[in-house]
Amino acid sequence: MSGNRTFTMIKPEAVAKGYAGKILDHIITGGFKVIAMKFTHLTLQEAKDFYAIHKERPFYGELTEYMSESPIVVIALEKDNAVADFRTLVGATDPNEANEGTIRKRFAESKAKNAVHGSDSDENAAGEIKFHFGDNEIFA
Ligand code: GDP
Repeated sequence: MSGNRTFTMIKPEAVAKGYAGKILDHIITGGFKVIAMKFTHLTLQEAKDFYAIHKERPFYGELTEYMSESPIVVIALEKDNAVADFRTLVGATDPNEANEGTIRKRFAESKAKNAVHGSDSDENAAGEIKFHFGDNEIFA
């Protein structure tokens, strides 16, 4: 059975361009409930730990440097079928391939600077929420 929580980050370039409010509105209008949220600035080590799953990929260095370059917004979300529905709302990794009306089509700059993160499994969503939030910061 699919779970009802997912995790997202509004990435550095989208925060820097002032898109955080519009992206949050897109997410809430898409039927997701915010259950935890904060503004944070990852250290390079935190970005490396968060993306450890990608450490063999050729862009790991670039990705972790980018994700730690300036503040991000981290958000835990609830909805039935949250992981799959959120990835649909977000769109393809490369904004040039993302469907019309998706967050990445509207707000992403490039495949690397693609506006938002979305968990890719229930297991990773749970781990990513735990990475950023204590139980006392989650209001479900
Ligand atoms: P996602 O699940 O759609 O976020 O995509 P992936 O799991 O494949 O990649 C994770 C993240 O790594 C993406 O969201 C991008 O920010 C970044 N990324 C993916 N491909 C590339 C690439 O070719 N170059 C760089 N610099 N970053 C990439």
